[in-house]
Amino acid sequence: MSDAVNITLLPGDGIGPEVIREARKIIQVVESKLDLKLNLKEMPVGGAGYEATGKPLPEETLQAAQASHAVLLGAVGGPQWENLDFSLRPERALLGLRSSLGLFANLRPAKIFQALSDASTLKPEVVAGLDILVVRELTGGIYFGEPRGVETLPDGSRRGVNTLVYTDSEIERIARVAFDVALKRNKSVFSIDKANVLECTGLWREVVTETHKEYSDINLNHMYVDNCAMQLVRNPRQFDVILTTNMFGDILSDQASMLTGSIGMLPSASIGGKTGMYEPIHGSAPDIAGQDIANPLATILSVGMMFKYSFDREDIHDAIEQVVESVLDQGYRTKDILSHGKKAVGCVEMGDLVSEELESKL
Ligand code: NAD
Repeated sequence: MSDAVNITLLPGDGIGPEVIREARKIIQVVESKLDLKLNLKEMPVGGAGYEATGKPLPEETLQAAQASHAVLLGAVGGPQWENLDFSLRPERALLGLRSSLGLFANLRPAKIFQALSDASTLKPEVVAGLDILVVRELTGGIYFGEPRGVETLPDGSRRGVNTLVYTDSEIERIARVAFDVALKRNKSVFSIDKANVLECTGLWREVVTETHKEYSDINLNHMYVDNCAMQLVRNPRQFDVILTTNMFGDILSDQASMLTGSIGMLPSASIGGKTGMYEPIHGSAPDIAGQDIANPLATILSVGMMFKYSFDREDIHDAIEQVVESVLDQGYRTKDILSHGKKAVGCVEMGDLVSEELESKL
């Protein structure tokens, strides 16, 4: 990690500013205890960007993101912007950031904390110890392929088209990300496709198999996406790293994350370019904004991922994760994960508990 690093904070909308405020406390503890120089710059994005400049991704915000080593995002969106033209909607800022920062790999851990194993809709014995990392391709596939659109045919009927496209180099680079992260975990990768039906994912399977030849330590399995969806519910602990396409990853990572029981607990990392972007998987939760009841732990755990993937400081990542675990073990819960007999705390208090314990741990 170099002496001084620049981190752009993009609080966004709804509960975004609330959870980023707590994440900032964590970053400041790391900075003061480890004597690092972390320059934090806060910029508007999403609905806040639109209100400030008329654009969801203001030029100055994009420039700050591009000039920084890492970006930490809260969440964007809200009902007050839902009637804007598609190009001006807050969510457009996410696509703009991903594509301009070259973030082709999305890493989404679905890890269950022991103290929350009863929060899952699955039986505790099925999910106990669950620790899955979904590696999703983020800038290609059917979400970007051309041709796309809806056309009206001469007989007046309509026809909708989207196109699934992957080049061998796009597949190879995301496979390498999955194999590299698997080397630091249990050395197991499941590559998910639909090679029995879609030629494009037949190519996916071929290129992943070819790339795997350079990773002899990794145990590689291929699985069809429909089977994977079923296996995630039947026996999720068989998975360690799941490697998959943009659309399959979108769906499977939501499914995997919900095995852990709470959307307020799950971080994510988008990497691939020189600047990584880190964010909780939840949205701006307008229904609870401004009430000090949002769970900040997903964003705090995203700070951990930032130190691991952008700054190669796995020790800081592990310390943050252990402190979150310890605070949960002591029975503290925000409203979304509250159960009988536990101690209810707000967003600010949860941030204080984690930052105070981290301060004594580092
Ligand atoms: P959401 O994730 O914002 O909320 C879903 C439910 O989960 C709500 O009941 C909410 O109160 C709860 N929730 C979410 N995060 C929580 C937290 N940290 N603590 C406690 N409870 C939490 O999804 P939604 O309601 O479908 O979307 C709301 C807005 O967020 C929309 O404008 C949507 O487009 C946007 N969105 C943004 C992102 C992003 O910025 N990455 C992602 C998803 C949705």
